[in-house]
Amino acid sequence: MKVVTVVGARPQFIKAAVVSHELAKRHEEIIVHTGQHFDYNMSEKFFEELDIPAPKYNLGISGGTHAQMTGKMMIGIEDILIKEHPDWLLVYGDTNSTLAAALAASKLNIPICHVEAGNRTFSKTNPEEKNRICTDHLATLLCASNQASMVYAKNEGLGDRIFLVGNPMYDAFLQNSGKLKKEEIVLSLLSGKTSPVPERYYYLTCHREENTSNDNDLFEIFKAMQQLEYPTVYPVHPRNRERALRLFKQHNFDKLILTEPVGYLESLCLIKNAEKIVTDSGGLQTEAFFAEKKCITVLDFVCWQETMVANRNELSRPIASEIFEKLNKQQTVDKSYLPFGDGHSAEKIVKLMEEKYLESKV
Ligand code: UDP
Repeated sequence: MKVVTVVGARPQFIKAAVVSHELAKRHEEIIVHTGQHFDYNMSEKFFEELDIPAPKYNLGISGGTHAQMTGKMMIGIEDILIKEHPDWLLVYGDTNSTLAAALAASKLNIPICHVEAGNRTFSKTNPEEKNRICTDHLATLLCASNQASMVYAKNEGLGDRIFLVGNPMYDAFLQNSGKLKKEEIVLSLLSGKTSPVPERYYYLTCHREENTSNDNDLFEIFKAMQQLEYPTVYPVHPRNRERALRLFKQHNFDKLILTEPVGYLESLCLIKNAEKIVTDSGGLQTEAFFAEKKCITVLDFVCWQETMVANRNELSRPIASEIFEKLNKQQTVDKSYLPFGDGHSAEKIVKLMEEKYLESKV
């Protein structure tokens, strides 16, 4: 099979890595990078660390409104699809790159495989939710990461196209989480200095549109972290850089360690060694779960239903007292509860693509 994979953002590089290695055993894959994430730390570093083949095409499209970004990407991706004429378009998750690629391929009648399909947050304002819904309805083959996604997809009439394969983030976690030791990490602080990782610390990430449109949410999160016993390591997403630095200086949040975005292997190591996690990232919530770390998610919607058990992952409003109180609740971990597959989702995805491809040729 000839597969065109379209990726553009950090979590997609991680998922694409495990599937790409599986595809490479028997098939031709052409990687298209839309350019949505372009900093070395947010993009190229992931290709290096995860040994992903270099993209054949890089569209260099980032910034602008959602429609501007999606529209420009569609035009670029359509040209590539016409030129390469693949058997499959392969897309991941819920970014504008995912939607743009799915729309372009659908109009050209190219079969689409959507990985992390069926997931829903039921948030009417969340931009990623709109991308997920549209991509699922355009796709030919839907690969679900969890049981809840199967149910959501069936409720939307997509039951005959969706298959439970497990979460490729779990494959990636199992393959990569032991590769780096904490002592090997040197944090690049936003101040320009460097620092080792503290003995005990909390891990924070925050980048969602919902939490980066005003100062209040990040201020409240910082206020909560400032009250904790140990410092907090916070790799700052470019979207929040100016705001994080300004709040840090204005309010003397000396328990916050603001760093440049870290690589994937560093992020996994920081998760595994953290006391607890505070995040608004969909991917990081699952990794906290895989690493059996208590997680507080500062969002008003659930990203991964299965993680919200036994105090393991709880939603909080961006209010310092609520984040603090919920962080202090004890979680209970049932080690036999593994709702994100067996770590072999990539094999299952490629096998399904092969089966559907052969069926289409009969
Ligand atoms: N991550 C990383 N470096 C960082 C922060 C996060 O490698 O500085 C990883 C994190 O461990 C997870 C992924 O990036 O694997 C999550 O991506 P992101 O939060 O950007 O997107 P989301 O999951 O919310 O779509």
